Amino acid sequence: METNQQQEHVHLLIIGSGPAGYTAAIYAARANLKPVLYQGIQPGGQLTITTEVENYPGYPEGVQGPEMMVDFEKQATRMGADIRFGLATSVDFSSQPYKITIDENKVMTADAVIIATGASAKWLGLPSEQRLNGSGVSACAVCDGFFFRGKDVVIVGAGDTAAEEALYLSKMCNNVHMVVRRHEMRASMIMQDRVMKTSNIMVYWNSETLEVLGENKVEGVKLLNNKTQEETTIPVSAFFVAIGHQPNSDIFKDVLELDEQGYIKTVPGSSRTSLEGVFACGDVQDKIYRQAVTAAGSGCMAALDAERYLSAKEHNN
Ligand SMILES: Cc1cc2nc3c(=O)[nH]c(=O)nc-3n(C[C@H](O)[C@H](O)[C@H](O)COP(=O)(O)OP(=O)(O)OC[C@H]3O[C@@H](n4cnc5c(N)ncnc54)[C@H](O)[C@@H]3O)c2cc1C
Repeated sequence: METNQQQEHVHLLIIGSGPAGYTAAIYAARANLKPVLYQGIQPGGQLTITTEVENYPGYPEGVQGPEMMVDFEKQATRMGADIRFGLATSVDFSSQPYKITIDENKVMTADAVIIATGASAKWLGLPSEQRLNGSGVSACAVCDGFFFRGKDVVIVGAGDTAAEEALYLSKMCNNVHMVVRRHEMRASMIMQDRVMKTSNIMVYWNSETLEVLGENKVEGVKLLNNKTQEETTIPVSAFFVAIGHQPNSDIFKDVLELDEQGYIKTVPGSSRTSLEGVFACGDVQDKIYRQAVTAAGSGCMAALDAERYLSAKEHNN
């Protein structure tokens, strides 16, 4: 049968170009694994949509997210990683070498694969939320809470993460207004208890956000009580959304073990997935920490795991 598909074999293929993917590329290139990395539609990953990053070690004055990711890419390239623009559109891991289709037309075969496809924050979908994203609207309290110390902020969400982030914010912000859609929270009882006992967290039950207010930065939020239909405006400096994340793992869902939320399962203390020779790192397998530095650390782990796997395989052949 005739086919238009091009094929290429590589020792190690890395999918994704956030802190995890680039760090894996740096380590793998230095271990002479000649990695090829596909960047996906967001070269540099999530940090390219933020402004200042102040908590990544090595930048004493802070750094702009996009600039930091260019530094990551330059370092990976300098070490010899082959960085390419392209999206992994499907995978066939039924036999080795593994097959990864790029942009639906090129088939890469690889002896080992590192998945570093990250995750995306879920948003409410309000135009004002989108317009002020990065100007006071954030999906990461640990990343951005510090910029609003001493100020009043809103956090939307009712799960454990929202409760944790509200508590985190309560330690540095003046008042934390927590917006909960129903008359109860989904968070565990212990987390709810901590929230309720924190004097500067105010919970708004049965409440929804109508609009985030402000021209160039967040200045307030308009809420609707969905029981009484009463509207309230609260002046705040930041609007945190904590309604969950979506791991970018769709193309792996029938081939690797994922948890109930779609995160790739890895063997604790390693980057090994349910399939030999396939490793996962960064936010696609981490629903707890979700930080650039932890993603980079796990990218290092994935490269070292892949190196050991490939080396053992070579010795056994
Ligand atoms: C607005 C914002 C601000 C943040 N600020 C901070 C901060 O100040 N400090 C901090 O430590 N963390 C911060 N974070 C969190 C941090 O960005 C993430 O924890 C980190 O980027 C995760 O890295 P990653 O490499 O796992 O994935 P990501 O950065 O999500 O990158 C995923 C990569 O995979 C690629 N990809 C996805 N699917 C495919 C595919 N099918 N084929 C090929 N490539 C694919 C994407 O194009 C992207 O390059 C912030 C996040 C956001 C959204």
